[in-house]
Amino acid sequence: MEFRDLKRQYNVLKPHIDYAMQEVLASGRFIMGQQVEELEEKLAQYVGAKHCITCANGTDALVLALKVLGIGEGDVVFVPDFTFYASAEAVSAVGAVPVFVDVDKHTFNIDTKDLKLKIQFVKQIKTYTPKAIMAVDLFGLPAPYSELTAIARANNLYIVEDGAQGFGGSIGNKMSCSFGDIATTSFFPAKPLGCYGDGGALFTNNDEWADMSKSLRMHGKGANKYDNVRVGTNSRLDTLQAAILLVKLNAFANGELQAVNQVAEAYNSGMPAEVKIPFIPSGYTSSWAQYTITLPAEELRNQLQEYLKQQDIPSVVYYPKPLSMQPVYKQLPISVGKCTVADMLSKTVLSLPMHPYLTAEEVEYIIETVQNFFKQE
Ligand SMILES: *Cc1c(COP(=O)(O)O)cnc(C)c1O
Repeated sequence: MEFRDLKRQYNVLKPHIDYAMQEVLASGRFIMGQQVEELEEKLAQYVGAKHCITCANGTDALVLALKVLGIGEGDVVFVPDFTFYASAEAVSAVGAVPVFVDVDKHTFNIDTKDLKLKIQFVKQIKTYTPKAIMAVDLFGLPAPYSELTAIARANNLYIVEDGAQGFGGSIGNKMSCSFGDIATTSFFPAKPLGCYGDGGALFTNNDEWADMSKSLRMHGKGANKYDNVRVGTNSRLDTLQAAILLVKLNAFANGELQAVNQVAEAYNSGMPAEVKIPFIPSGYTSSWAQYTITLPAEELRNQLQEYLKQQDIPSVVYYPKPLSMQPVYKQLPISVGKCTVADMLSKTVLSLPMHPYLTAEEVEYIIETVQNFFKQE
């Protein structure tokens, strides 16, 4: 069994994907072919944002977003302690300082109470300027945007939405990647919407920021490619990847997102009482980038993972180490100490196989195996 079975997806979509790729090969337009713009229009429409600007990967999307907002040296960005490293790495890459915020033990997303404390703390130090909140939609669940928006307004902060895992999630009738002042996503193959290599995108309603993102991703271009008005970078989405994503976006919106929600529902109703299932607040939906359970203790989590492995069921610990405990962040200029919930989660979470092409039999087998683990305890 595979943790995320991309081969099975390809087998289903093969005729469409092969055709789309051949069209690109025949066109000879491998960089910024028409599929790129077509995809950007479709993505913006799906998400409900005015602009979508694709780029080379989700990490670049975050770096571009921070640059567009003018964030750099002397600035602070508040980052949840429990996320993929790139959420903080992008902040460091532009020269700003990440200040880690604990997460909510139920949603795994940024804890707004701790966020308020950390903002006050940084304001008191005075040496750094708080500039933005990096709101991560972890495992597919949107961050608490109504609270975050109120906090951002009260403290004059931008919200950068890291929707690398959130694409497809929603709050009410608003989709992920439409919540931040600027939002980003990733098309890394294993993300909710993935391509066949690296890819990413930014979303914003701000015309000026959209123009600047387009300039930055193409060597700081002005009127054209050979008119260079700022230091940018080379970060474009390949036409081939855009063509693949056009097929995959269609499948995502017309079945796959529903299918992962069905898998999650089956898991939820089958998990034994010893296991804490993912919590989805009322009005929210997840795109299930991960289906992550929490065990009562670290040893039990590790034993369950080993037991599953023996029964040919892959599982992964996302994430084994909070960001504040990573070697790279040993020497931060602003040290805020341990985030206790992030630390606890890193020891007790386990993500189970999750993708739209899991069969009912496979899901049943996984549930039964987890149940059997607790019976033999
Ligand atoms: C995957 C991921 C990224 C980075 O995306 P890449 O396309 O791999 O660069 C950033 N943030 C989060 C939360 C992610 O999961």
